[in-house]
Amino acid sequence: MPLYNFSAGPAVVPHTVLKKAQKEFLNFQGSQLSVVELSHRAKGFEEIIQEAEALLRELMDISEEYAVLFLQGGASLQFSMLPLNLAQKNKALYVNSGTWARKAIAAAQTIDSVTVEVIASSEKDDFHFVPKINSELVDQKAAYLHITTNETIDGIFYRKIPKVGKVPIVADMSSNILANDYSTEDFGVIYAGAQKNMGIAGLTLVIIRKDLLNQEVIFAPMLDYSLQAKNNSMYNTPPVFAIYMAKLVLEWVKEKGGVSQMYHNAQKKSALLYEFLDHSQIFSSPVEKSDRSLTTIPFVTGNPDLDQQFIEQAKKEGLENLKGHRSVGGMRASIYNAMPTEGVTTLVNFMKKFEGENGGK
Ligand SMILES: *Cc1c(COP(=O)(O)O)cnc(C)c1O
Repeated sequence: MPLYNFSAGPAVVPHTVLKKAQKEFLNFQGSQLSVVELSHRAKGFEEIIQEAEALLRELMDISEEYAVLFLQGGASLQFSMLPLNLAQKNKALYVNSGTWARKAIAAAQTIDSVTVEVIASSEKDDFHFVPKINSELVDQKAAYLHITTNETIDGIFYRKIPKVGKVPIVADMSSNILANDYSTEDFGVIYAGAQKNMGIAGLTLVIIRKDLLNQEVIFAPMLDYSLQAKNNSMYNTPPVFAIYMAKLVLEWVKEKGGVSQMYHNAQKKSALLYEFLDHSQIFSSPVEKSDRSLTTIPFVTGNPDLDQQFIEQAKKEGLENLKGHRSVGGMRASIYNAMPTEGVTTLVNFMKKFEGENGGK
């Protein structure tokens, strides 16, 4: 029986990527060294990081106006690095669209020299939609406007990136990078933890417009974007294995048709599940139709005991990690790029069967 991993992160990695990593693990390209034993200053690793960057630039159409950084500390460290680098002695604007946005806001609020202003929120509606921005509230002198393009826990996403004048948009794209038709040039900064849709934990990607580097602020060197950029992400030892895995994932995305194909697949796969949810007698989606995520899909029965039974029985069918986030309960199916369509059809078929056995008509 095939197993399908619906975990939100660390998440499913394409099987062919895992196989390739296994094959190269003990002897990287005839070197007799494992890929994890290579010096980050050696030619072998230099090629890996350069290829990873070149692939990413090609796939996301990233121009030379942007620097690409391979960092550590997770998307969560970016919640602090962003305001420290870009907004000291200035104002930073935020959209409070869900659980992750709220964390980004809370992190920025700990920095005394940064004024945090939340210009839109859907918190009192339990984050069931993307809050609308009133463009008059966008202070054109602000350092940036922060959005979360996909709220992993609440299951909403930005179909379109808002237009806010000349204020740079800074985006946490952790759970839908490489799965949408966004234009990189609409953003000042894009950041993402790699363990959702780009590989494994340990790597955080930052794509930053070069005019946003070299800010005159003083703080810990390791947290300085411009220092990291000057050193090509190798000021200190980078997460070599996670960068290698990202390179393999990016090769896989390219081979499968690139980001536009991934976006097409995400629309198709998510539609299978939403179509079922909208006609189901016992399951439903809590999210407004227009803003429903293509990659992280929460659903509920409204009965916590039934939810629990569903999660347990699904596991026996090889449908793993469907439990919703502990903060919201219910279920969640994360269907990132590496989740095959068969995984989603198997899930939907099991949901139909479960419904038949549990009061559905
Ligand atoms: C998972 C996630 C994070 C946190 O990522 P870490 O790499 O664990 O710090 C932040 N934002 C979003 C949208 C996420 O999905």
